Amino acid sequence: MGARKTRRIDPWYQAVQDGWAIVRAHPALRPLAGQLYQSDKRAPHEMWARLAGGRLEYHPNRRATAQEWAWTFAHCLLHAGFGHLDPRNTVPTNIIGLPSDDPWFSSRVRAPHPVYRAACCAAVDTYLATMKIGTPPDPVPPA
Ligand SMILES: [Zn+2]
Repeated sequence: MGARKTRRIDPWYQAVQDGWAIVRAHPALRPLAGQLYQSDKRAPHEMWARLAGGRLEYHPNRRATAQEWAWTFAHCLLHAGFGHLDPRNTVPTNIIGLPSDDPWFSSRVRAPHPVYRAACCAAVDTYLATMKIGTPPDPVPPA
């Protein structure tokens, strides 16, 4: 008689997967949802999830409920759906060089102005509230 292996699933990982399933089941978000990836564990601790190069990544060290993950993933996907990731969809002054001591870096590596980024998040959150999907984490992750 062989030893039975008990397969344990990390409950925090399961919460990520359950949150992702909630998002993928929503008809408005399903077309936006591709694959979900785990980010590098060295990603900034304050990060929950991000869209990077078309990939939706979650921070593996973040602990949250499935409902909080659903809200977080939906928030990220709505930024893509609203066109916030394409700098051509805004005026040039909303895209700035990242601060750096290196002028070459600052002139070439561009990012949304923090005020523009906050406005985009507010638009997403307003829409997300009407969708009634998930629960915003408390405190809400930084933009
Ligand atoms: Zn946002």
